[in-house]
Amino acid sequence: MRDSDRTLAGTGRLGAPCPLAAGFLLTLAAGLALALTTTTAAAQGRYDPRQAFDLNFLSGPGTVYRSGSGAPGPRYWQNEADYRIRVTLDPSAKTLSGTDEITYTNHSPDTLRVLWLQLDQNLYRKGSRGWITAALQNPRYITPGFDGGYDIRSVEVREGPDSAWHAADHLITDTRMQILLPRALAGGGGVVHVRVVYSYPIPPYRQRTGWYDTKNGPVFAIAQWYPRMAVYDDVVGWNTLPYLGRGQFYLDYGDVDYRVTVPWSYLVVGSGGLENASDVLTSGQLHRLAEAARSDSTVMIRSPAEVGDAGSRPKRSGTLTWHFRMRGTRDVAWATSPAFVWDAARISLPAGKTALAESAYPAEVAGADAWGSSTQFVKHTIETDSKMWFPYPWPVAVNVAAAAGGMEYPGIVFCSWRSAGRSLWSVTTHEMGHSWFPMIVGSDERQYGFMDEGFNSFIDIYSTRAYEGGRYAPYSAAEDSMPLLAEYMKRTGQPDPILTYADDVQRSYVGFNNYVKPAAALYLLREDVLGPERFDEAFRAYIRRWAYRHPTPKDFFRTMNDVAGEDLDWFWKEWFYETWTLDQAVTGVKYVDGDPSKGAIITLQNEDRIVMPATVRVREASGRDSTVDLPVEIWKQGATFSFRYDSGSPLDSVIVDPGHRLPDMDRGNNVWTRPAGNERR
Ligand SMILES: [Zn+2]
Repeated sequence: MRDSDRTLAGTGRLGAPCPLAAGFLLTLAAGLALALTTTTAAAQGRYDPRQAFDLNFLSGPGTVYRSGSGAPGPRYWQNEADYRIRVTLDPSAKTLSGTDEITYTNHSPDTLRVLWLQLDQNLYRKGSRGWITAALQNPRYITPGFDGGYDIRSVEVREGPDSAWHAADHLITDTRMQILLPRALAGGGGVVHVRVVYSYPIPPYRQRTGWYDTKNGPVFAIAQWYPRMAVYDDVVGWNTLPYLGRGQFYLDYGDVDYRVTVPWSYLVVGSGGLENASDVLTSGQLHRLAEAARSDSTVMIRSPAEVGDAGSRPKRSGTLTWHFRMRGTRDVAWATSPAFVWDAARISLPAGKTALAESAYPAEVAGADAWGSSTQFVKHTIETDSKMWFPYPWPVAVNVAAAAGGMEYPGIVFCSWRSAGRSLWSVTTHEMGHSWFPMIVGSDERQYGFMDEGFNSFIDIYSTRAYEGGRYAPYSAAEDSMPLLAEYMKRTGQPDPILTYADDVQRSYVGFNNYVKPAAALYLLREDVLGPERFDEAFRAYIRRWAYRHPTPKDFFRTMNDVAGEDLDWFWKEWFYETWTLDQAVTGVKYVDGDPSKGAIITLQNEDRIVMPATVRVREASGRDSTVDLPVEIWKQGATFSFRYDSGSPLDSVIVDPGHRLPDMDRGNNVWTRPAGNERR
């Protein structure tokens, strides 16, 4: 989602764009001879090399489920949840009611005696845990004055598709429902069917789902709308953390077949393919959709002028049922309105595949300066991210104008209708970027917010640079501007490490901790530590290994170590597990035998707890200018590191991190300059 607490991330470029850097390898400027010395000093000040290079960090063997390399192990398993859902929207009562039929396959080695389902709508019930904890502090996830929640009419279970349904004992606690199975569900592929008949009042739109009014009628953005299986995994068993609002979702994969019945005048857009287009569209609209599927420019399916025109619908009374189907997904969402303008264009994917970019929005915000650009934003984001990281797997990618912020679901996102131009680009590329994290790579958002928001904010940097030559770059000010990142690290005081449960991060710090800091860390790792080639290979391997699966943070860290071929434990620890900061300094220059022509001994100091490779620029009185790249290993023995530089003349200046590529907290000690009138210091 788009975090509106994210006040730290402004727009506007600060600092120069960073050129791509060398990685670990020591590089020598042409004609420069350089010798490293092993001069060390005991750890001083805040820095302790045993903390930074922590032997016990990420230690412990892998398992048959999760390998030590970070890949899924040979006996990795995951349960499957397939859904058949039939619902009817009553727009005047603002209720949704229907039937949710789940086929649940237990691939685990364990016998399950109970099932757990997620009842997210119960967040909106007065007195829910999320309602109580958010009412005053953070009401953006609930709707003050609105009392919602599921009305569960029946819960039934059957063992095979031909057996009879039996009422099942169940127990609802807040946003969870436990079903007591009449017969235990065997591991290794046992199947059980669950049927829930339910309804709920649709909340006024706040942050994720609900309705809002436009001049041509209400827009319903429908999500967290059917009882969904909780995840049973090899890490903790049943994942039953309640839905408090902020911490997002953790879901199993499967196929979802859903039918939505709405009044005849309503258009519906949703996750997955529309299975019965000829039942719900006019022949003109079918023709335009086919044209859009072949077109790089945006094609109107229903124009602003046609909104409210009965001729834009295949019938003029009663209801229509829209049938969608999405395969290999962890969730589905949809939106409906009589007010929708609808347009679309082709998305070109690797290997000659295509998908359809679509946008649905009220006429008030049509036009090229506003939502008329949305479909191109969707198309370009999906094309760039598919080429750079992993091909987009689903048939459609829909952007819906909703009432607040931005929120992502597989194949469909809800972005603020008020967004236009740069702000619409930025929210669209972000929400669509979630297709990769967490929709393709199915991490647990409720626990690890950085694995979706942070990873996504990182890839948004590059999708934004790629769009129209960087027209809307930078994506946000901090992720690729290290001086600004340092300023934010100082200003926030970093109350929590990145590895903090999503619901537990200090509220004012969520934007920085879940989005900006992890994105900046990955940016540093790509641009300054590994270099793009090695980073991209490892990051793509992570996506490939864990596509449609459930990685933990360790699986990510270990995969990056494994594929990059580098022990990066120091990096993961200092950036993701600690609230440390960085301060590199130049503390001295001496000449061998006091003679500049014999060489200079340059001393660096790691004044703070984060370690990073160091880049040093040396300027000589002769005019020679050289850059020395030093690997992170210089800090393994202590906070002080000296090296010999083959000077030919006295040094004018020595600068560590001359390109401002690191979030250095004190730049005052980064520069050494020759004392005036003193050639031999
Ligand atoms: Zn997000």
